[in-house]
Amino acid sequence: MNLILFGAPGAGKGTQAELLARRYGLVRLSTGDLLRDAMREGTELGREAKRYYDAGELVPDGVILGMVRETMQGAADAAGFIFDGFPRTVTQAEGLQALLDDVGQPLDAVVVLEVDDEEIVRRLGARLSCPQCGAVYNRDSNPPKEEGICDRCGTPLTQREDDRPETVRRRLAVYRDQTAPLIGFYEQTDTPVHHVNGDRAVDEVQSELRRLIPG
Ligand code: AMP
Repeated sequence: MNLILFGAPGAGKGTQAELLARRYGLVRLSTGDLLRDAMREGTELGREAKRYYDAGELVPDGVILGMVRETMQGAADAAGFIFDGFPRTVTQAEGLQALLDDVGQPLDAVVVLEVDDEEIVRRLGARLSCPQCGAVYNRDSNPPKEEGICDRCGTPLTQREDDRPETVRRRLAVYRDQTAPLIGFYEQTDTPVHHVNGDRAVDEVQSELRRLIPG
């Protein structure tokens, strides 16, 4: 089974994808997480991506598709993938189609998590993450046990560089202009596209997703 989760930054894609991956035994493939790993490790790809990432702009399609191809090849025996934050452009969607065709795998569903811009700005302003292990928290809805400290590894939490208000506004515009049109692209295919209200408690959203997703 292969799924795509769409939604503006902060719509809850990562949280929901993580829960779905566990429930259905799928691999969550988050291009944002792969980029953050590469930047943390200081690889050439990470250094190349950083200036786009920090400005809230999209990293070039060739870089993203290369990274996705490598990850999919490295998990060739997976039951399927949940694509989180990918594809973000029509070129990436076409690239994904080619990668799935190569391995004879279908795309089973597309889910769009919908949250108003105002709520997004509020959520991202409260988001904290661990620069060491990548765990994500929210000051309001999912605080760490000890203020400012990662529950998992004890590292002081920071705000993601691209969660600063100016960059969030840019990321929302990029989503609206470049990624949201992809929903229309998938609506013209045979793959079902589900629109889900993401402005609810995590477990309510997750229950609805489980009702909608085949298997
Ligand atoms: P995310 O964690 O998914 O919100 O991604 C954070 C940032 O990583 C984005 O603002 C982009 O700079 C970059 N990024 C992540 N995924 C992609 C992608 N599929 N295409 C281009 N850039 C991406």
